Amino acid sequence: MTLEKLLFIWMKVTQFIFIRYALVAGFTFFIFYILFRKKWQKYKLQALFPKVKSQVMEFVHSASTMALFGIMAGLIFVVYPEKTQMYMMASTHGYFWLILSFPVMLLMHDTYFYWLHRFMHLPKVFKHVHHVHHQSTNPTPLTSYSFHFLEGLLESAILPLIAFTLPVQREAFILFFLVQFMYNVYGHLGYELYPKGFHRTWIGKWVNTSVAHNMHHKFFDGNYGLYFLFWDRWMGTLDKRYDDFFDARSLSKNNR
Ligand SMILES: [Zn+2]
Ligand SMILES: [Zn+2]
Repeated sequence: MTLEKLLFIWMKVTQFIFIRYALVAGFTFFIFYILFRKKWQKYKLQALFPKVKSQVMEFVHSASTMALFGIMAGLIFVVYPEKTQMYMMASTHGYFWLILSFPVMLLMHDTYFYWLHRFMHLPKVFKHVHHVHHQSTNPTPLTSYSFHFLEGLLESAILPLIAFTLPVQREAFILFFLVQFMYNVYGHLGYELYPKGFHRTWIGKWVNTSVAHNMHHKFFDGNYGLYFLFWDRWMGTLDKRYDDFFDARSLSKNNR
């Protein structure tokens, strides 16, 4: 394959990722931070709105992350799909696996993310890699991809990790790629969408929420998960104040 062709593929895939970013992060940002900014402010987890300058920086860092994801996704989906475990026909491994592969991908990603996140909070790694993401102490949807170049690389590694170890159907994999970004945006939304009391239900105990991740951005410590709270609960890293903050649905009124 010529360099020109590789560049073309990279640009096309990055364009797709950029459109996903604009549709999911851009759209939610528009709704929550522009259109209903005043009306919904009382529901905001942190009372103040972040500065425009920090939002611009989040966008700049997100652009480099998208370019990196473009390389990774381009290599897997277009250049070397036959070298991965990915398959095209939905019936190849049966429909049961097709459905099951989805939660398996989420669990795999959550485990990878949790331990990578813990690793990135080691002081030496934090100051060189993860500090960029934590510049946003009051996150917005634009924070979702605001990573240092090295973190972007580590985060995008989940794609080859799944593609080379798990037989996944191509469209299911693409859908996972979309869902993971949507959940990432929800985590950084700055508003809680789950209903009151959700964190006390049998399912809500194990599901990560916007409150939990917002606390991580505000306090830097604890709540390392992505989709779930399994690892945080098992490893004792769930912030002890989580239930109180979720009940208050605010990190400002109940800042103990
Ligand atoms: Zn962190
Ligand atoms: Zn975050």
